[in-house]
Amino acid sequence: MNARLFAVIAAALAFLLSPKLPVLAVTEIDQPPCRWFHYYGGDSATYISYRWGSNLQGTSLWRTAFEQSLQDWNNTPTRLLYYFDSYGDVHINTYWGENDGLAGFAVPYCSGTTTIAYDVMGNTYYDALYGYSSNHRRSVTGHELGHGWSLGHITDPGTALLGNNPDPETYYTPQQLDIDLVNQVYW
Ligand SMILES: [Zn+2]
Repeated sequence: MNARLFAVIAAALAFLLSPKLPVLAVTEIDQPPCRWFHYYGGDSATYISYRWGSNLQGTSLWRTAFEQSLQDWNNTPTRLLYYFDSYGDVHINTYWGENDGLAGFAVPYCSGTTTIAYDVMGNTYYDALYGYSSNHRRSVTGHELGHGWSLGHITDPGTALLGNNPDPETYYTPQQLDIDLVNQVYW
């Protein structure tokens, strides 16, 4: 066997034998005090149920944006999946937050360090005031639904959906940094 072929085989073996460990590449801030129950290091998916709040029962621009963002997150190569259940744990709704300075917010409910429920909210006030584009709305719903997986913010400025202030016309779907964060937390 020549040396070059040996090196290739050795590298392949080293890759196959390396343990499946999370890569700590993303810095998470504002980490919530609890996470969803998850089997770490396995191959199975963790399913997180959601339900629609009172303001999102019918067809609306916000309902559409949330539906797009649910799909956006479900299409990421991660082990988490949102699924609908009329008694779902993640309560998705809108509210009228006049001058509260928020495009939306998300609040975890914890049992110790385990997440048991979430409120994921979009603020319709600023949309009514400024007239959001569909991308802008989807950026807000995607950001808040990312929190709904019990995740904080990503420090890298403006280049992640879960960044503190991403440009909503550019970052309205999960980016590589967002995917990395999910896989870092729920490995
Ligand atoms: Zn946020």
